Amino acid sequence: MIFETGEDFAKQCDATDPLRAFRDRFHIPKAPDGSDATYFAGNSLGLQPKSVRAMLDEELSDWANHGVAGHFAGKRPWFRYHEQFREPAGRLVGAGPDETVLMNTLTVNLHLMMVSFYKPTKTRCKILMEDAAFPSDTYAVKTQLHYHGLDPDDALIVVKPRSGERLVLQEDIETILADQGETIALVLFGGVNFFTGQLFDMPRITAAAQERGCLVGFDLAHAAGNVRLDLHDWGVDFAAWCNYKYLNGGPGAVGGCFVHQRHASRTDLLRFGGWWGNDPETRFRMHLESDFVPRPGADGWQVSNPPIFGLTAVKASYDLFDEVGMDNLCDKSRRLTAYLEFLIDQLDGHRFEVITPRDPNRRGCQLSILVREGAKELVDSLTLDGVVCDFRPPDIIRVAPVPLYNTYQDVWRFAKIMAEQTHG
Ligand SMILES: *Cc1c(COP(=O)(O)O)cnc(C)c1O
Repeated sequence: MIFETGEDFAKQCDATDPLRAFRDRFHIPKAPDGSDATYFAGNSLGLQPKSVRAMLDEELSDWANHGVAGHFAGKRPWFRYHEQFREPAGRLVGAGPDETVLMNTLTVNLHLMMVSFYKPTKTRCKILMEDAAFPSDTYAVKTQLHYHGLDPDDALIVVKPRSGERLVLQEDIETILADQGETIALVLFGGVNFFTGQLFDMPRITAAAQERGCLVGFDLAHAAGNVRLDLHDWGVDFAAWCNYKYLNGGPGAVGGCFVHQRHASRTDLLRFGGWWGNDPETRFRMHLESDFVPRPGADGWQVSNPPIFGLTAVKASYDLFDEVGMDNLCDKSRRLTAYLEFLIDQLDGHRFEVITPRDPNRRGCQLSILVREGAKELVDSLTLDGVVCDFRPPDIIRVAPVPLYNTYQDVWRFAKIMAEQTHG
């Protein structure tokens, strides 16, 4: 990819961008001067699709007009509401329709998955994670270990970057698995690390772990809607993701879960059941048939009936993903992020360093930038100039040019502020 530094180049890229029309389908927050903000925080909270409001209105009308009958009446009856996500979710994560379900929220789903897929024995009780994982994942894993009477100091193994480095080496993951795999019950990794933006080699981690007899789950919070996923073909045992980052499903949106088909009908798996995971034919006969009969597939891990309004926003967003398609999205993503990298490379190399992998196959759209001096001042001037990005004190800013709604001019403007602040 050949890039140029001038603004004209950015304008020209936007004019010929095949996805340019999608930006108008979102509400773009405003900068302090009233113009559109340069929103690079879609890895934290994705923007609102304009279609959400009308779709929510439809559900409110169905509730107003039908009351309880809305479970079976109206445009999208609530009784089967979650089923409409199976196929679109499958397209996002590379799964068959019976392998995905939208339910709860991410950390809750990680717990529910661990109830079924973390079964420590005397000889095989450990969990392997990346360092540093997102805090919620670490809390979830540590409290699961406590729940099983285990001490995280003994039973939690973390793969750290080598001394002086920021990224976890695939080689080091495989060495740990080769040396200690027989003691590891579960490998739980992020798909894309939230902090560094490193995309892990999920198929290789899965193969190496399963070869040692471990089960493998991925937290796809920063991967879903950002990079290509093929969970079924990779043979991943389970995964969970949130729908409010790249997937634009709104704050606290209902999460997603993947359970591989090989586990679909297993009756030996422990789980925390509830009526919505039960066979719908007998679900309402609970006073007559009191035994929990999980429905096959990911659906069988549901507990409660789903929050319809929350799912409605996710529906609006998934419709857009289906319209654009992950392949097209990833094409633009690679180019837009490479352009950002190119412009950062023109800046003061002593002050700025991209810590995200340089290899486009090992990252999504986020770049994490180490700012050697004056990080806080830089973030303040970016904010004043209408750039929304994420600052992780003391010295990392994370910027995510999201291909669905960000432009080449957004990227150019960001780099310009970085350059001016440096010299100012
Ligand atoms: C965003 C994020 C979460 C958030 O968890 P919730 O349960 O949705 O609040 C958890 N894990 C990772 C890796 C994340 O990036």
